[in-house]
Amino acid sequence: MVNTTQRIYNILHEKYDSQKWWPTTLTGDLHPTYHGKKHNETQQFEIIVGTILTQNTSWKNVEKAIFNLNNNKLLSIEKIKKTKQEKIAELIKPAGYFNQKSERLKILSEYLYKKTIKELFSQPINKLREELLSIKGIGPETADSIILYSANKATFVIDTYTKRIFSRIGLCKKEIKYEELQQQITTELPRTTKLFNEYHALLVELAKRHCKTKPECNECPLSTICKKKI
Ligand code: SF4
Repeated sequence: MVNTTQRIYNILHEKYDSQKWWPTTLTGDLHPTYHGKKHNETQQFEIIVGTILTQNTSWKNVEKAIFNLNNNKLLSIEKIKKTKQEKIAELIKPAGYFNQKSERLKILSEYLYKKTIKELFSQPINKLREELLSIKGIGPETADSIILYSANKATFVIDTYTKRIFSRIGLCKKEIKYEELQQQITTELPRTTKLFNEYHALLVELAKRHCKTKPECNECPLSTICKKKI
C-alpha cells in the first residue's frame, strides 16, 4: 500500500517529470541551467553559492547574481576569497541582502579554501550537517540543500513550500518544526538521493504553479487528495 507521501511524489512526477535540479553553469556558458548531469567540483561550489544567494529571494534573482559572478570570472573559491567583499556585494545585488550574503560567501570561501569540498563532503551526513550548521549564515534549510544538491547525499530539504503543501493537504500542522517534518517525510520514503532531490524540486514546482500564498486549486494535480482544496 502506497502512503500519501509517496502518492504525492508519484502524482507530481507523473505530471511534471524530472526537474533536473540543481541548475549549474555548463562549461562555456554564463547562465546556470537545469541539465541534470553530475556536478564537477566547480559546480558543487556554485551550488553552495546558490544556496546562500537564494535565501529570502526567488531563483530568477539568483540567476542574475550568478551570471554577474560568472561574467566577472569570480565563481570559484579562490576568486571569491581574494576579491573584496564590496565587489562581491555589488555583483550579487540582484539577489538582495547583498551585504549579508557577500559576507557569508567570503566566510564560506575562506572555510573551503582551508578545508576542501572533497574533504568536507567525505563525512557521514550527520557530521557534515553539524559542521555546516556551525558556519555563520548556514541554517537547517541551507545545510540540507548543500548536503542534498552539492554533496549528493540523501537528506530531505524542508522549506516554506514543503510546510505549506503538507499542512494544506492535511499531513502536518502549519507550525510543525523543521526537523519534525523532515523526520516524518523521510520515514515514509525510500532513502535515496535521487528521490529526495526530485521530490523537493517537484514541491517547489507545485508551489509556483498552484500552491501559492493564495492557492489556485482548480488545476492542481493534488486536488483529489488535498483537505484544504478550495
Ligand atoms: S489543492 Fe490547493 S491547497 Fe491543496 S496542494 Fe493543491 S493548490 Fe495547494
